[in-house]
Amino acid sequence: MKRKRVVDSAGRPVKAIAMLSGGLDSSLAAAVVKRLGIDVLGLHVRHLFSGKPAAERDPIADSAAQIGIPLRVIDRPDEQLEIVRHPHHGTGAGMNPCIDCRIFILRVASGVMEDVGAQFVITGEVLGQRPMSQHLKALELVAKQSALEDRLLRPLSARFLPETLPVREGWIRLEDLPEIHGRGRQPQIELARYYGIRDFPQPAGGCLLIEKAYSARLRDAFSVYGADQVDRQGFELLALGRHFRLSANAKVILGHDEQENAKLAEKAGERAVLDPVELMGPTGLVEGNPSDEELRLAASLLARYSDHRPDESVRVRALSGPQHEQETILEVLPLAADDERIALWRLDDTKR
Ligand code: SF4
Repeated sequence: MKRKRVVDSAGRPVKAIAMLSGGLDSSLAAAVVKRLGIDVLGLHVRHLFSGKPAAERDPIADSAAQIGIPLRVIDRPDEQLEIVRHPHHGTGAGMNPCIDCRIFILRVASGVMEDVGAQFVITGEVLGQRPMSQHLKALELVAKQSALEDRLLRPLSARFLPETLPVREGWIRLEDLPEIHGRGRQPQIELARYYGIRDFPQPAGGCLLIEKAYSARLRDAFSVYGADQVDRQGFELLALGRHFRLSANAKVILGHDEQENAKLAEKAGERAVLDPVELMGPTGLVEGNPSDEELRLAASLLARYSDHRPDESVRVRALSGPQHEQETILEVLPLAADDERIALWRLDDTKR
């Protein structure tokens, strides 16, 4: 049953900011606190590494609508990239700087909290759910470094965590909160049924930085160019196509399909652009400062993925120069599909 509105000692309604990720846990945390009579504003800090194609439905807006709360969405791309380039608290198994990322998002939330006169912030974090960022020490560190301290409530696990302001003030009673910890999902699924939350996505998906392939490409880019030299377009290109490192001076990116070919052409910048002439095949970008021999090798690699006839040479158009004003036609033999160099050059483990 819904409680009456909670007010503070001055008689003002108590307000909280709920971080919404589009996942089930953050929706539940917001729903639990709203049901207890607190005014809740949903907040989503959009992240650049969601890796999801533009969906017809927006899971964050869906989640706020299902809970019945207003939503604010904030973009802070430059700071996010800086965190990925220089994390202070290390990374998980991939290039995911989860602790720094949480601290950053909660600092943004802290600003919104001040802005709208809210008293605390809610997250869907669950003690023991994720090895890097959701053990007790990490949760405490994030609360401290985000400057939220005891204004950060994790309603799903609050009964196992140090006391927070909303509990101390009597706005929320611990016994009204669920007792969830660990990696199991059953308690959340049952709670979702209770709150009528449907269509929730699977947990923890969607961050490119935890993916092996993306992380391998990012590590390569940081080590070859230096982290500060990888700009937003560079980060975006790492999510597209097949990547091959031929040498420190030459990397080749080949599109998987027409859509990727178009995106590669659009994001080429000063990279050389390769396209097969008169037959179907991928668009390729060559990054760095390739020698003539490396450019021909890149064309042979591209030709291997084109619809060529066996043992026939392929003509590949190379556009280079700052404005792609120099056109060269390269006639090359496609590399054999089983050429061992291909696996050595490949910068990921997605063998498509
Ligand atoms: S998984 Fe990605 S988005 Fe989530 S906290 Fe870690 S780095 Fe940030």
